[in-house]
Amino acid sequence: MQRRALELKRAGRTIGLVPTMGFLHEGHLSLLRLARARCDVLVVSIFVNPSQFGPAEDLDAYPRDFQQDEKLCAQEGVDMIFHPEAGTMYSDDASVWIDEELLSRGLCGASRPGHFRGVCTVVAKLFNLVQPDLAVFGEKDAQQLRIIERMVRDLNFPVEIIRGPIVREPDGLAMSSRNKYLSATQRNDALCLQRALGRTRELVQKGVVDTAVLRQAMVELINEVPEACIDYIEFIDDESLAPDEIIKDRTLVAVAVKFGTTRLIDNAILNVH
Ligand code: AMP
Repeated sequence: MQRRALELKRAGRTIGLVPTMGFLHEGHLSLLRLARARCDVLVVSIFVNPSQFGPAEDLDAYPRDFQQDEKLCAQEGVDMIFHPEAGTMYSDDASVWIDEELLSRGLCGASRPGHFRGVCTVVAKLFNLVQPDLAVFGEKDAQQLRIIERMVRDLNFPVEIIRGPIVREPDGLAMSSRNKYLSATQRNDALCLQRALGRTRELVQKGVVDTAVLRQAMVELINEVPEACIDYIEFIDDESLAPDEIIKDRTLVAVAVKFGTTRLIDNAILNVH
């Protein structure tokens, strides 16, 4: 992959990268389209990265369908799929890792220790292997996106990061490969995320800016679903990811809720004007 990428760069071609864990859906495809329009050579990586999964998490169960992914990539004009084996990506005695130390502390970083260390390390490796001029990441994983942007800034990666908006199912559920784990009942229960974010938006529009009040309204809506177990609901500054007590322009509200063993995340940007 690296040899091919360096040849392409020497020939003056621009490379766009969309990193994924496969089992592609419309959310991924929207990122491919954003990248496709901005580069000569579009590379998609499909790699279920072991180092970002905790020991009790769903690494083995994570859905995979490479044939279908290949078809979708062909339809979207992808030039190369980078689909390495875990053993190729990591030496048994790998001992260098990238740890982002500030933005990773809360939210998913608190619930999933070591997760962002795995994400940052694999993304840095992908950047070195694929040599992209630009890479597209989804707003769905809001914390991840900001951590990657910080890594690129702080370690001077010559890569432009492009943000892709959240793509949702017609009923509002954010698309995710993990939605496949949901039973029909849980799939329906999961709509409470969207209801809770929608309610917060409404309240903010009506002038409610105290995040404790907004949080409580969200907790009540989500707790109407007996099976929903809240991991976190956070109102944070869009850049520093520090808690916001009062809503201001571009306060990010981020939620993680478990339905059975499936943990779903969603988020929205709130504006006071
Ligand atoms: P994953 O395969 O889940 O690791 O996701 C790969 C990329 O797709 C990440 O940048 C995600 O943020 C992005 N992504 C996943 N779901 C969505 C979605 N519903 N809308 C937009 N981007 C998404």
